[in-house]
Amino acid sequence: MSEIIPEQTLSPRIVKLTTRTGIDIRRTLPHRRLRMIGAWCFVDHYGPTDQQDAMSVAAHPHVGLQTVSWLFEGLIEHRDSLGSIQGVSPGELNIMTAGHGISHSELSLDSASQVHGVQLWTALPDSNRNMKPTFSHHRDLPRFKMDSLVIQLFIGEFMGLRSPAKMYSPLVGAEIDIARHGSAKLNLNADFEYGILLVSGDLGINKSEISFGDLHYIPSGSSDLQLDSVDGAKFVLLGGEPFNEKILMWWNFIGRTQEEIEVMRNDWNSQSERFPKFTDRIGGWIPAPDLPKVRLFPRGNS
Ligand code: MN
Repeated sequence: MSEIIPEQTLSPRIVKLTTRTGIDIRRTLPHRRLRMIGAWCFVDHYGPTDQQDAMSVAAHPHVGLQTVSWLFEGLIEHRDSLGSIQGVSPGELNIMTAGHGISHSELSLDSASQVHGVQLWTALPDSNRNMKPTFSHHRDLPRFKMDSLVIQLFIGEFMGLRSPAKMYSPLVGAEIDIARHGSAKLNLNADFEYGILLVSGDLGINKSEISFGDLHYIPSGSSDLQLDSVDGAKFVLLGGEPFNEKILMWWNFIGRTQEEIEVMRNDWNSQSERFPKFTDRIGGWIPAPDLPKVRLFPRGNS
C-alpha cells in the first residue's frame, strides 16, 4: 500500500519551457513530496503575461498520457500528427489522448491582451495506454453557480453534472471563481484525493491561506472543504481516485520500464512513423534530451 500523504500546500517551482520566448512556467506536479493526484500527473501554470507568443512550443511527442489544455485568457492553436488544427479559448477544452504515440505543437495567437492557462496531463491506466491516439475539442461544458461560486466543469463529474471529455479513470477538473467576500462549502467525493491550484486572487481553504501558484493537496477521506475569499479568486480544482499503478514519467513520455522509454525516445529522435509528420507555423521539432546515466524506475505516488 502507498503511504498516506497529509493535507499540505505545495509551492511551485519555476521551469523554463522550450519556447522562443522562454517564459517561466510554475510547475506543481510532479512534486518531490507528491507525484500525482488521482491520474493527474503534471500541472504547469503559465502567465498571466502580455507576451502574445508566450506559448509557442514546436512539435514534440507524447506517449501513455492525455494532455488537457485549459485557458483563462488568450488563444492557442493546437496542431498534431492526426491532422488536427484546433484553436482553444477560455471556457473550451482541448484534450489529446496520446496512447501509443502522437506529436503536437502549440502556438499562442494574438487575441486577448494576456495569455494565462494551465497545461495538465493525466496518466493512462495500463489497459488503455497503448490505444490509438485521439484528439477532441469541447465547447459545450457545464457551467453553473452555487452560492458564491461559478463553476466550469471541464473533466469528469461534479454536483451531478458531467463533462463530455472521455477519460480513462475517475477524475474531476473544474475552473472555479469565488466572489468577493465569498464563502462556500464544497462537497467532495471521499474516494478522491484533490488539489486546488490558485491562479488569481486570495483564497482560504479550511481557514488556511494559500498563495498565487500554490497547489493545496487534500488526501482522500474528506467529504467537504471550506472556501473563503476577501477580494475574490479563481482556482482550478483537480481530483481523482488514487492511481494505484507505478508509472515511469520521463520528458514527454509515460511508460512502465526504462526499456519502453528508450524505445519511445529513439522512435521520436529518429522521426519514425510512430509519430507521423505534420506542418505548422512554428517549424522544426524538439529532440528528446539524453537519458540520465542512472537507471529509471517506475514510481508510485510518493
Ligand atoms: Mn505537449
